Amino acid sequence: MRIVIKIGTSTLAHAGGRLNIRRTEELCKVISDLKNSGMEIILVSSGAIGMGVGKLSLTKKPSDMATKQAAAAIGQCELMYVYDKLFSEYNHTVAQILITAADVRHEDRHRNFSTTLNRLLELDVIPIINENDSVATEEIVIGDNDTLAAIVATSARAELLVLLSDINGLYTADPHRDKDALLIPEVPELTEEILALAGDKGSALGTGGMKTKLSAARICTEAGCDMIIANGADPALLYDIADGKPVGTRFLAGGKS
Ligand code: GLU
Repeated sequence: MRIVIKIGTSTLAHAGGRLNIRRTEELCKVISDLKNSGMEIILVSSGAIGMGVGKLSLTKKPSDMATKQAAAAIGQCELMYVYDKLFSEYNHTVAQILITAADVRHEDRHRNFSTTLNRLLELDVIPIINENDSVATEEIVIGDNDTLAAIVATSARAELLVLLSDINGLYTADPHRDKDALLIPEVPELTEEILALAGDKGSALGTGGMKTKLSAARICTEAGCDMIIANGADPALLYDIADGKPVGTRFLAGGKS
């Protein structure tokens, strides 16, 4: 089974941007174990800007482009250092690929990206992908890693994309405001009614929200890939997902129910 796991900033880092060590260690341990069991795993990891903010001891995410891009450059090093260190403990090798929207739009570059991805998986490596935030500008920006993860999942012909976030899944209403909100376990089709459930607020350091997650679901399911939104606070949920147990909200690939 080939899966793409997207890890959001809120899963990896504390609110101020510093690494959440316990969570990240647990995550790398579970992912290593799943890989040992024979799964092919690709990670799409956010956290570059967040960790750059933490490392520079800034008080909040910068709003100007230059500082944001500088923070991404600093945080991306920290991010890969941490992944390399933790996955090495379990004898796994990681590789970094940074892309922009221009790479996806350009046919040759997109093909090269898929070829590299496939070769890394054949070499038994864990590819870790992020947007190249330090060079992306408005015209060539994907903008959020939910969309990036969906593009990666379809490029790699993955069977499943898992978005690990700070929420359990899609609810019938905003669970922070409405105590009667119910988790929707399965979405067979992205109807207007479902799309209307997206608010657009993400975490303070990340970029995505439910809106970007639903647009990722559209890209994935139209390409024949299931998508799950699950809470990254408990990395062991990935075992249940691998066992086919219901976790979070599952969006079924086109026509499946
Ligand atoms: N690429 C951004 C980062 O690594 C995150 C984008 C997102 O949160 O969706 O900081």
